[in-house]
Amino acid sequence: MSVRPILSIGDPALRAPGASVSADDLASDRIQGLIDDLVDTMRHASGAGLAATQVGAGVRIVAMEVTSNPRYPYKPPIPLTVAVNPVIEPLDGEVVEINEGCLSVPLRGNVRRHVNIRVRYLDRDGNAHDEIKRGLTAGTWQHEVDHLDGVLFIDRVEDTSTLSTWDEFEIHHRDEFIERITAFSDRLGS
Ligand code: ZN
Repeated sequence: MSVRPILSIGDPALRAPGASVSADDLASDRIQGLIDDLVDTMRHASGAGLAATQVGAGVRIVAMEVTSNPRYPYKPPIPLTVAVNPVIEPLDGEVVEINEGCLSVPLRGNVRRHVNIRVRYLDRDGNAHDEIKRGLTAGTWQHEVDHLDGVLFIDRVEDTSTLSTWDEFEIHHRDEFIERITAFSDRLGS
């Protein structure tokens, strides 16, 4: 287990779609070691999620975990989840504007995400999962799976005036966003 360097925006590897992982590959030491490193690296960086493409491994694997995260104190908890070959299907047209950050991008900005999604994926042992995710957790899934297609959240920022550094977000935008998103999460019951 080790912490790997996280690629930053501008690195072409972040823009290359990841390849599907076969059952044989998933069981290999190489991929199981990569998964261990993804979890270590995500936790070391206080990320809510990390995609394999962000450490230069071009495969369709993401890790997610939210406990009490200093980067995102308003996010509901996500138990440690490793998703292999994840597929997302929006369940309806409802969207919410979420202020997002990314370990590969030194900015935050507002992105519209589907509120209700179905996710299908394999866990690290190859077991198939079919689940419904909602709200901020659904947003985290969409952000991470975007990485596997070479898409960064800033590609989806429609109003570029919402872009800010983390420091400026704290000063000018944090309170308003947390108030809005907490009210949204309460309405959603998640
Ligand atoms: Zn990201």
